[in-house]
Amino acid sequence: MGTDLHFKKVTVIGVGLIGGSLALVLRRKGLAGTIVGVGRGENNLETARRLGIIDSFTRDIAEGVKDSDLVLVAVPVLKIAGTIKEMAPHLKPGCIVTDAGSVKKAVVDEIEPIIPSGVHFVPGHPIAGTEHSGAEAAFPELYIDRKCILTPTSKTDKHALETVKKVWEAAGSKVMVMDAAVHDRILAAVSHLPHMIAYTLVNTVADMQERGDDALSYSAGGFKDITRIASSSPEMWCDICAMNKESIVSMIEGFQARLESLKKLIKDGDLTGLKDDFERAKKVRDSLLEK
Ligand code: NAD
Repeated sequence: MGTDLHFKKVTVIGVGLIGGSLALVLRRKGLAGTIVGVGRGENNLETARRLGIIDSFTRDIAEGVKDSDLVLVAVPVLKIAGTIKEMAPHLKPGCIVTDAGSVKKAVVDEIEPIIPSGVHFVPGHPIAGTEHSGAEAAFPELYIDRKCILTPTSKTDKHALETVKKVWEAAGSKVMVMDAAVHDRILAAVSHLPHMIAYTLVNTVADMQERGDDALSYSAGGFKDITRIASSSPEMWCDICAMNKESIVSMIEGFQARLESLKKLIKDGDLTGLKDDFERAKKVRDSLLEK
């Protein structure tokens, strides 16, 4: 790596939506000499190569990370720690390892103690995504005007942090630095809870459907808007629930309390209370669109 942002060899582990999109950015901006993909599925890796996302691929993680200057770990979040443990003995000194996992505290706690000396780990999470997955879903504009949160600790190398920050800025993102536990609480509120609600809402209507009421045929824009994220990868969301259990459970409890209070207002026919609730929510939601 020279003084400016350029990596001779980049390895992307998990060449899906997130890893593939960043690989496309690195390629398009000329920031990487060669990009090697490592993954589970031969078909997905072959697709990634055909689409020009990676130059080559291997299923052998040791071979994949050998001599790499930058390793991006973009596998499902439950697999991140195991993946980094497996590659750790094969990383060269000076290599920067970063991840894109949607949950940070558990990953950081598990990884930091096992990172070899001379190798730098910078935990990250791009706040960007779609409900699609795999290499075919990747596109380089994914990160433009989106936030990317990095969650360094007191042990994180400052130069490596700065380098990873520049990578995400090159992708068009605004980079924020935050404590991992704070990240997990905030994301539980604005990302994890909405996904739980979307899955539950769809299942509630699916139950009704099974009982014989064909409600789904009449679903219009509103139902489709609010349930779009229920099409997200079930594997990914199981992992997120497993890794951010406490914060998600706490958000669900908060949501249940809100729903109970809404139920009571409806039962009591308290139209003033309902109007206050709806007006408050509308104001907050409208202000989001203005931002
Ligand atoms: P994806 O399914 O599109 O890609 C993940 C890739 O990892 C797949 O190609 C899969 O085959 C591969 N993989 C799975 N297990 C593996 C293993 N053990 N070793 C090597 N490869 C493996 O998923 P994605 O949406 O790109 O998500 C990747 C990561 O990014 C996850 O940690 C997720 O939490 C995080 N993330 C996702 C989003 C989103 O909205 N999709 C947003 C931000 C961060």
